[in-house]
Amino acid sequence: MRNLRVELLARRSWTCVQCRTLSSSAGANVRKSKNNLPDGPARTRFAPSPTGYLHLGSLRTALFNYLLAKRTGGQFLLRIEDTDQKRTIPGAEQRLYDDLRWAGLHWDEGPLVGGSFGPYRQSERTALYKIHANDLVSRGHAYRCFCSSDRLDALARHRSQAGLPSGYDRKCFDVSKAESEERGAKGEAHVVRLRVDSYPMFKDLVYGKTGQNKTNSSKLDLIDRVYDDPILMKSDGFPTYHLANVVDDHCMKITHVIRGTEWMPSTPMHVALYQAFGWSPPHFGHVPLLVDKSGQKLSKRNADIDLSSFKDQQGIFATTLVNFAALLGWSHAQKSDVFDLDELEQLFNLKITRGNTVVAFEKLWFLQKAHAQRFAAKGGPQFDEMVDQVCQVVQHDHFGEKLDSILRGRTLTEYIASLLRVDAKTYTTAEDFAKRNSTFFKTQIERPPYTPTTTSDTNNPTVSVQSLHTAAAALTLVPPAHWNIETHRANIAMYNGSSATTSTTEDADITLSDKTFKKELYHYLRWALSASAPGPGIPETMTILGRNETIRRIQDAKALTQALVPQVGRRVPRSSGENKLQEDQSWMGTLAPRK
Ligand code: GLU
Repeated sequence: MRNLRVELLARRSWTCVQCRTLSSSAGANVRKSKNNLPDGPARTRFAPSPTGYLHLGSLRTALFNYLLAKRTGGQFLLRIEDTDQKRTIPGAEQRLYDDLRWAGLHWDEGPLVGGSFGPYRQSERTALYKIHANDLVSRGHAYRCFCSSDRLDALARHRSQAGLPSGYDRKCFDVSKAESEERGAKGEAHVVRLRVDSYPMFKDLVYGKTGQNKTNSSKLDLIDRVYDDPILMKSDGFPTYHLANVVDDHCMKITHVIRGTEWMPSTPMHVALYQAFGWSPPHFGHVPLLVDKSGQKLSKRNADIDLSSFKDQQGIFATTLVNFAALLGWSHAQKSDVFDLDELEQLFNLKITRGNTVVAFEKLWFLQKAHAQRFAAKGGPQFDEMVDQVCQVVQHDHFGEKLDSILRGRTLTEYIASLLRVDAKTYTTAEDFAKRNSTFFKTQIERPPYTPTTTSDTNNPTVSVQSLHTAAAALTLVPPAHWNIETHRANIAMYNGSSATTSTTEDADITLSDKTFKKELYHYLRWALSASAPGPGIPETMTILGRNETIRRIQDAKALTQALVPQVGRRVPRSSGENKLQEDQSWMGTLAPRK
């Protein structure tokens, strides 16, 4: 018996009557290991107020809590802190649910899913807060304050004129217990204040030992003494954020509270409240402020925008945004920064930096391209979604354009999927992708006049246009069954520049290097096939466009550059380099045109 009592004391367990739950010290199973990870499962929560939508900073808070729970095999809770009914935005709660689910942060307990510690909306828990506030009053840790707002205003004015810090003079602390009970029972308007003489220090998981160990009054106040004595219950019967937050974290058995540094000044008060209740506080970890490159706190003006603008307006993948948010303050020892949510769940720890976190949006686009590549390589629903988005843009932007002659039996979805598979590394948004590759979605492409790349002298090119025509035509001689990237790549590689001597210069007997010829050939083919737009490589472009469309574009290109071919009789190449090209077609192998 004695042993059991000793053990219970050692575990600092107690029964919270109001909660009807056996709560054990939050610290009991959460001894820290390397990386500040608890040894046991962490119960974490995200506790948004429906006074706004989820934005980058709050997504990060939700994510860190989610990841800590998942990494340690614990639970992630969602709690709606809607005690400030006046500031509640209609529809915000539903948006929070939608946005969290979009990001993949599914909660184990909370609204919509339930759980053993509900309800999970604070407006439905007011009776519980009253019970706990009364408990503190009856034990002398809190007291009813009947001061009118006029008196409190006058007090504040007086102190401010005297250059003294604001605070309450504890007038109502002297009201006798019996009188206080009676006036409260009669319904006289009052608030409940915590009686607090000093604020304890606490050990933050990120910042270490912190707090000001502030006593509730300074020397300055000796004559005109005031106290913080924060309000726990408002006169409308609703709890303040502080009371509801502490009661709920305790009753919901939260072991770790990860939240933004803007809440750090409130934490000593929360710890004082835990002490007044006789409860062990959870572990607190405050994550640094998000700032822009000039050090300004992120705000609506500088992109701390709500999630819908990332997902709906900018077309950022959930995986990208989650990856981006995870890197805001968390550091890891991996070689790459590219992680999806599953990987983050395996890797996360509490190695969180202390300084302000600079948000660099270039990284967001880097991650978007990296994840696009991963989706394309892996296939699956995320890739299908990407394909679908590009399809929608193409159908919208190219409305009326009949692509049948290019598709030739393929669906637009298959066609776009093949394009995305080879060019996903450049994917930022569906719009940009469709724009960058717009020549794939046009039956008539508008090419600028052809200009060689290996010389600036169009009339006197290093590589004759005729040899480019011949080489381009030869590349199309692949039979349909072999029309694929590997064949085209091999055919182009097979080309040996030394056999393609050609020049239209007067002393033209120069053997072109393989490099020069290939450079010009690639340049010419890109111009012919996609009007010189950047995009997939030539073998890939030929494959996706298909044999017919490639031949058509190469023929069009030839017609457009015919005028650049020297006319017989007007000027005959002295060294017959072009003849030599025609004669020496061994590089084409079996593709050489039959004579
Ligand atoms: N309701 C607070 C908020 O809106 C929660 C702060 C906390 O996590 O304790 O951010």
